[in-house]
Amino acid sequence: RLEIEHLTCAFDGQQVVRNVSLSVGAGDVLCLLGPSGCGKSTTLRAIAGVESPQSGKIRIDGTEVLGPTTFVPPEKRGVGLIFQDFALFPHLSVADNIAFGLKGTKAAKRDRVRELLDRVRMGRYIDAWPHELSGGEQQRVALARAVAPRPQVMLMDEPFSGLDNRLRDGIRDETLSVLKEEGTAVLLVTHEPEEAMRMADEIALMRRGDIVQMGAPYNIYNNPADRAAAAFFSDIN
Ligand code: ATP
Ligand code: MG
Repeated sequence: RLEIEHLTCAFDGQQVVRNVSLSVGAGDVLCLLGPSGCGKSTTLRAIAGVESPQSGKIRIDGTEVLGPTTFVPPEKRGVGLIFQDFALFPHLSVADNIAFGLKGTKAAKRDRVRELLDRVRMGRYIDAWPHELSGGEQQRVALARAVAPRPQVMLMDEPFSGLDNRLRDGIRDETLSVLKEEGTAVLLVTHEPEEAMRMADEIALMRRGDIVQMGAPYNIYNNPADRAAAAFFSDIN
């Protein structure tokens, strides 16, 4: 479970994320939705621990990782990341990419790698190299790699925007089912209302650093908080 209270981030005295509070339960997907520059990626980076916020609190499964006197470093937060440029390590095989961050015996790691590759239907590519895979196949391996260490929280920043339309829906569904099965709390950043409608249990609508509306997808779609929110959703058909 991910809980954020009153998170504020600023660059050069300019607040780009203001007083953001939200929470995501295990197995749930919250979409941070809003136009370019509204502060989505900055929020995600603050949660990951690679950005130092001005103020705010972050808890992961009840443990404070950010607070007035707390700063847990990124690698100790139990957070997984999937970004648009999901670069796999080019010098490691598919299996070694997924095993990279895993602890335990060689056999245990191999089992986890196999389990995840089967789940994303990439089992026969276990000994392949990243450059031998298509974009969609690389994205599946990236999903397996991000999920492998069993992070409590998965942060995803526009992970599907590099894929062509034909592939995108399938990989969206597959990603959701893997993350639901693992019981991961997911924060998914997107600027596409259609993607949020398809994937979210809850949507947080963001504008110029503020969350302007939060709710179930169809509640927001049917009852947008204001004209700008309505306009933002109007190009979905
Ligand atoms: P997009 O959809 O285009 O990715 P975003 O919602 O992810 O946009 P952010 O990347 O969070 O937006 O940026 C929010 C604001 O903060 C922008 O005005 C951006 O210019 C500014 N910003 C982001 N990173 C920095 C930085 N390292 N230094 C200064 N300003 C920054
Ligand atoms: Mg961004």
